[in-house]
Amino acid sequence: MIHNTSKALFERAQKVIPGGVNSPVRAFRAVGGEPIFIQRAIGAYLFDEDDNAYIDFINSWGPMILGHAYEPIEASIVAAVQHSTSFGAPTRKEIEMAECILSMLPNMEMVRMVNSGTEATMAAIRVARGYTGKEKIIKFEGCYHGHGDSFLIAAGSGAVTMGFPDSPGVTQGVANDTLTAPYNDLAAVESIVAANKGTIAAIILEPVVGNMGCVLPDIEFLKGLRTLCDREGIVYIWDEVMTGFRLSTSGAQGIYPVVPDLTTLGKIIGGGLPVGAYGGKKEIMQCVAPAGPVYQAGTLSGNPIAMSAGLTMLTYLKQHPEVYTRIQSTTASIVKGMEAIHQKLGVSYTINSIGSMYTLFFTSEPVTNFESAKKSDTVLFGKYFRSMLSQGIYLAPSQYESLFVSTAITEEHITQYLQAHENALNDIHT
Ligand SMILES: *Cc1c(COP(=O)(O)O)cnc(C)c1O
Repeated sequence: MIHNTSKALFERAQKVIPGGVNSPVRAFRAVGGEPIFIQRAIGAYLFDEDDNAYIDFINSWGPMILGHAYEPIEASIVAAVQHSTSFGAPTRKEIEMAECILSMLPNMEMVRMVNSGTEATMAAIRVARGYTGKEKIIKFEGCYHGHGDSFLIAAGSGAVTMGFPDSPGVTQGVANDTLTAPYNDLAAVESIVAANKGTIAAIILEPVVGNMGCVLPDIEFLKGLRTLCDREGIVYIWDEVMTGFRLSTSGAQGIYPVVPDLTTLGKIIGGGLPVGAYGGKKEIMQCVAPAGPVYQAGTLSGNPIAMSAGLTMLTYLKQHPEVYTRIQSTTASIVKGMEAIHQKLGVSYTINSIGSMYTLFFTSEPVTNFESAKKSDTVLFGKYFRSMLSQGIYLAPSQYESLFVSTAITEEHITQYLQAHENALNDIHT
């Protein structure tokens, strides 16, 4: 594969954009080599600036669950554009969007639209603090909640990939208000709460983690946190920016029998446009301005183009729950195929998966939290990634990410993927 155009663009980009990219993981630093520049995409395929084709297993980090350039979504965007791109005033579409979200997430009573997942989580903890009158939050090592100051403590995703789980520029004051615990460790949370009695406003987590690679929750852990939050007057926040409308029509809440107080959304909710949302119990959401005193605003929030794309996406998913059966079965075939290959080659690697999310960890030990995820051999992962890329398979350029399957993946793609996987393992072991 020739990447001359991407190489030239990356050189040019680095002169004007920090690191040449607008979001760190895209730079491929964790896997060696240089990023490829994407020119267009359709269905399961990405095409780079040198016209190489790749089967996409990132799907814009989740949003393109129906594959790229999905016709109904594109059509809704084109239709909306004819009526101008922004008003900064209320619209009918925003109500339809809110009603649609609430109909899909029965635990949510009110919702506010924002422009990214980061905005959603930042707002959610502010509201939790305003509502409880308390200041500290608890998050989990390796969970990623966007790039808000409060969350860049022991953060996952790009932060860990780049080796900066704690970022310079976050003040000590902010850091002091963020307490961290190991994922799936209820006892650790209990003791943090006991040691900080009456000062915790919120506990926030990814109900299924994608940002240290795919890590599944212990149901008792999710339930235990609910009980703890009820007992201590803590707002329980599920960050479903990744899992929302990914794991089911009602996200992780459709799978686990636990009800959070607030939920944050993003990624799929915008159908590929920059959208986020946060919502939950009416009593808490009524604290948000102008209904209440907690300030949160956005010039472009509820943007008509974004609402059209998002509403088309959500309406489609709501009407076609078979989407989830399909992508889950695609994922199961991939995982089963990989395991058969591992057995044949006599290698042992951990694969975590749920629904249409999965991660191959280059460790033979179970991965249940950040500590165990970090046992993965990231050098080996880098080699594997480069081999897969050279065979036309586009994976997340980091060990600490989940992969996402879209409805555009066919049997033929699975076969191609598994062949590439076997070749890649043979490559890296010789
Ligand atoms: C992607 C992600 C975010 C951040 O969303 P952005 O739109 O990138 O700001 C927050 N939380 C989780 C769980 C995510 O996966």
